[in-house]
Amino acid sequence: MHFAELDLDKSLLNSIDKLGFEKPTSIQQLAIPAAMEGRDILASSPTGTGKTAAFLLGAMQYLIDFPRKNPGFARVLIMTPTRELAYQIHDQAVALANQSHLKIGVVTGGINYGTHKEIFEKNNDILIATPGRLMDYLEGENFHAEDVEVLILDEADRMLDMGFRKEMLRICDEAKNRKQCFLFSATLEGDSVELFADRILKDPALLEATPSRKEKGKIHQWVHLADSRNHKVKLLTNILKSEDVTKAIVFVKTRERLEQLVGELYSQEIKTTWLRGEMKQDKRLSALRSFESGRTNVLIATDVAARGIDVADISHVINFDMPRTADVYVHRIGRTGRAGKKGTAISFIEAHEVEMLAKVERYTEQKLKRRVIEGLEPKHKEAKLPAKKKKDPVKMKAKKKAKKKAKKK
Ligand code: ADP
Ligand code: MG
Repeated sequence: MHFAELDLDKSLLNSIDKLGFEKPTSIQQLAIPAAMEGRDILASSPTGTGKTAAFLLGAMQYLIDFPRKNPGFARVLIMTPTRELAYQIHDQAVALANQSHLKIGVVTGGINYGTHKEIFEKNNDILIATPGRLMDYLEGENFHAEDVEVLILDEADRMLDMGFRKEMLRICDEAKNRKQCFLFSATLEGDSVELFADRILKDPALLEATPSRKEKGKIHQWVHLADSRNHKVKLLTNILKSEDVTKAIVFVKTRERLEQLVGELYSQEIKTTWLRGEMKQDKRLSALRSFESGRTNVLIATDVAARGIDVADISHVINFDMPRTADVYVHRIGRTGRAGKKGTAISFIEAHEVEMLAKVERYTEQKLKRRVIEGLEPKHKEAKLPAKKKKDPVKMKAKKKAKKKAKKK
């Protein structure tokens, strides 16, 4: 199927063309027609399969078909869990609206209130917001959601996971004159999204995309055994200097290790940008922009700091340090191999990380290839895992409890 078959406005088709999108992804093929029929939508499709353009194109076509009659607040409101996602949606919306007259604004935490005031006064057509800040504006009566005609909840599963249920319900309540509501999610697993959807959607089109392998992209994974931290640095330098690394995220486990690594790479003339927890919002955004635009092609981050980043075209994910759990591994590497592109995920494994590697292999049901770089071969053999001890049920219980607690945070 081609975009031209979707009955979208010419201006949108031109922008799509400019963005270089050739074909609509599965979820776009399903969601855009349903949106144009005026229906509510409950949609799920894995991360990286083009959900943003799916809801944006549906909403923009609506705004073009039914132009604004009176000045007022935003007619399309998009709620998304994190600042970074908000800015990415904003960027994509601006790119798609490039040939139309639609105005787009964004409000998130971490930016002072003054600039946002203007955003509300400017007659925006589309407003993108994170839950916390949006609530502040509703409380302060700076924003009224009665003018919202299309309400979109992006990454609904994640917002529920992050504890934004109350905020989501509140906005659904306030946007009571809406004509349509879209709820987009990476999965519909667990019943929380569907229960929530039941409450707020009216006879929704239920769209579950099962994207082809090609769409999901392919991630090529392997590991390098390392003797020491120093050995890891050498491996990393070697890999980053190879030319097929166009955009790499390097994960480290602590802030201290991050700082050390930035310095070491700098001395090797590898320019990096980095994200760590507790960074000022403007610094964080400028680091991300620098990475997104390709000014620097290596981003070093901790898991916490990298939460929510969703940069396109990442060629390499490098686990300088292994994560604490296998699902974090899967989450990390999911940042590459987006939208049908090839991606590479490389992990460095010191003796103490062999156990984690085994967990990842069990979790992903595959054995990862061991590779060596000439001249940088490990001196030590791969550490053997101790035979599994019998589980102590009391200890297991305590462990489970601790895990649960950590998750809640
Ligand atoms: P999701 O929200 O499903 O995780 P995104 O909307 O962020 O995914 O899209 C992931 C990447 O795919 C983005 O870089 C986006 O620009 C790109 N993309 C979206 N639609 C298409 C398309 N039809 N063809 C090619 N690339 C696309
Ligand atoms: Mg998304």
